[in-house]
Order: sequence, then C-alpha cells, then structure tokens
Amino acid sequence: MNVDLWLPDSDLDPAQREFARRIRAFGAQKLAPHARAIDEQRTFRREMVADLAAAGVLGGPLPEQYGGSGWTPLQLAIAHEELGAACGNARGFCAVQTGLVAQCLAKFGSDAQKQQWLGPLVRGEAIGCFALTEPEAGSDVASLRTTAKPQPDGSYLADGQKWWITNGGRADVMILFATVDPALGRNGITAFLVDTERRGLARTPMPGIELGHRGSDHATLTFGSFPIAAGEVLGTVGKGFGVAMNGLAAGRLSVAAGAVGIHRAALAATVEFTAGRQQFGQSLASFQMVQERLADMLTTLHASRGLVYRCAQRRAAGAETHADLAMTKLYATEAAAKAAEHAVMLHGARGYSSAFPVERLWRDSQALRIYEGTSMIQRTILGRMLAAES
Ligand SMILES: Cc1cc2nc3c(=O)[nH]c(=O)nc-3n(C[C@H](O)[C@H](O)[C@H](O)COP(=O)(O)OP(=O)(O)OC[C@H]3O[C@@H](n4cnc5c(N)ncnc54)[C@H](O)[C@@H]3O)c2cc1C
Repeated sequence: MNVDLWLPDSDLDPAQREFARRIRAFGAQKLAPHARAIDEQRTFRREMVADLAAAGVLGGPLPEQYGGSGWTPLQLAIAHEELGAACGNARGFCAVQTGLVAQCLAKFGSDAQKQQWLGPLVRGEAIGCFALTEPEAGSDVASLRTTAKPQPDGSYLADGQKWWITNGGRADVMILFATVDPALGRNGITAFLVDTERRGLARTPMPGIELGHRGSDHATLTFGSFPIAAGEVLGTVGKGFGVAMNGLAAGRLSVAAGAVGIHRAALAATVEFTAGRQQFGQSLASFQMVQERLADMLTTLHASRGLVYRCAQRRAAGAETHADLAMTKLYATEAAAKAAEHAVMLHGARGYSSAFPVERLWRDSQALRIYEGTSMIQRTILGRMLAAES
C-alpha cells in the first residue's frame, strides 16, 4: 500500500514529521490495540490516562511552566489526527481533559487554581470534565438553567442538571457553568472550578447505549444545594458565557483534526480491504466504481487536512477567526462521516461487524458532527456572517 498518499508526512518539515511519527508510534503501541475492546465492552480504560500522560500528550499544548510541552497549534493538529486515527475515545478524552478543562484553566484561572489543578491534570493524576450542556440547553447554551445562588458569605449553592458530560462519572475536577441570576441572561452565566468530592452532587451514567465513543464516560450530573466557595469562580462572575465559547471555539480545531484521523483510518482500512477482497474474479479495488469512492475519500482527506493546517497556522499567527474554525470543523467532520460511510459500504457485510474497524469509525464520526457545536451551528455561524456582509 502506498501509505504516503494519505499520511501527512510529505506536508511536514523534518521536525514535524518526526513529531507525527512519535505520536503515531505511541498510538499504534498503546491505544489502537485496545480500541476495539473498550468499544465492545463499553469500558473506560484508566490505564489509557496514564499512558497519555507518560507520552506527554495531556500536557502537550500547555505552557512548559505548568508541565506542558508548549506544542504549537500545528503540533496539536498533527497529534490529534494521530490520536483520532488510533482511538476515538483517547482523542475525545484529551479534547476534554486538555482542550476544554486544562486550557480554560490556564487561560482564565487564578494562580492558586492553576497551582492546584494543572499539574495533576497534566500528569493524569486528576481527571477533568466540562459541565455545560443541560437537557434543555444544548446548542442554545445561553439558556442554561443551572443556578449558583449567591449566599450572604460570598459562597454559592448550585442546583440543576447537566448531561452528556464526558468524564463526568469519574472527574476529580470540573468546570461548571451556572447562572448567578437567571434574570441577567447570558450576563449571569459564571464558570466555577470545583472539585467533585463534596455533598450535593449525584452522578449517573447516561441512559441508553451511545452510538459511538463507547469507551468514554458520559454522565448526568445532578446538583442539589451543591456548595461552591467564593474563590472557586473561574475568571469573573457573569463572564462564564465567554469562558464557554472560548473553550468550545479553541476545541473545534482538535475535533476537526480528530476527524481527519478517523477519515484517514477509514481510507487506509478500505484500501487494504478492497485490494484483498476478490469478487467476479478480480479484486474490488480494480473496479472503477470502487476506485471512484477511494479517490473521493483521498481528495476530501487532503482538503480537510489543508483546512486544519490553515487554521492552525492562523492560530499561531494570532489571526484565527470564528469563520476559520466553523469552516474547518464543519468540513472535516462531515467529510470524515462520509468517508466512514463509504468505508462501511465498501466492506460489504464485513463493514457491518465490529470484527472490522470501519463501523466503529463511522459510529465515532457521528459525535464529531454534534459536540463542540453541531454542523448546523457551524453553518449558522457562517451564514450569519455572510448575511451580515451583504
Ligand atoms: C459523545 C458526546 C460527548 C459530549 N460531551 C460533552 C461534554 O463533555 N460537555 C458538555 O457540556 N456537553 C457534551 N456533549 C453535549 C453536546 O455538546 C450537545 O449534544 C450539543 O451541543 C448539541 O446539543 P443538543 O444535543 O441539546 O442538541 P440540540 O441543541 O437540541 O439540537 C438538536 C438539533 O437541532 C439543530 N439545531 C439547534 N439549533 C439550531 C439552529 N439555530 N439552527 C439550525 N439547527 C439547529 C442541531 O444542529 C441538532 O441537529 C456531548 C455530546 C456527545 C454526543
């Protein structure tokens, strides 16, 4: 197989190529061998966290002063493609632990908050979650209903419910978004950084069986007079909506890069399979209609990666816009889902079984179209900008 056709290496300089190969080797040795089992058994692998920490992945994009490696945005994109190709659950864990929790903490936290939590998050000693979505507040984040009622001594008591919270069942620390005054609308929303070992919090697994990301922990969190100290505000009271949007916007690059990884894995599996499978006396890969699909998968893979790299370069230059992120997440996640769908089809009945990886890739790809802003929300962001321009 001519893997050079779909690997990113020829787009990278020697140092970047070496970096990509290091993360790829880590994924192949430590993540990919467990990807099928954790999906089938619906198990969160705690050892995975230690492996990610030991490989320097959890601290990758964080500043060195907090134990991070100071990855550039392009290195982040390269790493998340490799993680996405190896194991969607591991990539999703990093997106929350590092992308949403640690990076928001590094950006908005006080020195005391950073001192307490960044080291344990980077070393994998603590697990973090980002508790934003509620049953009645999904895409419309500003309508969240969880309250953090101010108390006379400056502390708060939180009441409400969050759901679909990745790592929620086992997180040691959480960024919780709640309103200090529902009458203030989005100006009441406040981010809090709280440890989870206290009264007033009930955690239950999400009901039902997830379509994909089955080796991840998704929980419902119910707060009843949950105490929050005055010093546990993350950033400023009333500015939590901005914290949430900042975290989600930044995370869209890693979700898009993860989609490139899924896309690449689907193409690689399908090239291998169609070359070996014989029907009508010849390999599937020799049929022009099959080649057409493979050619489309390869072309859209490079288009997605090109958008991801462009976004990363613009982030490094301080020039990244919401439009860059929206286009990149929209295109890369939709292209990955389409490629995974082709992969299932081209495997025939084998593609319908967990004995082959492509049905898992398809199932995992669907979540990327939903979280950190659905594809429709990305189109809404772009559409509003275009309408405002005209
Ligand atoms: C695997 C997984 C992990 C997740 N992890 C987390 C997590 O760690 N933390 C967290 O807080 N949340 C998490 N979520 C939740 C996720 O962020 C939300 O599901 C997502 O924001 C969409 O919200 P919703 O499900 O309520 O859908 P809704 O907002 O109800 O949307 C339903 C449909 O309507 C469409 N829609 C909504 N508004 C518009 C509009 N204005 N125009 C056009 N179409 C629209 C949407 O695109 C979607 O297709 C996770 C979800 C999944 C699947």
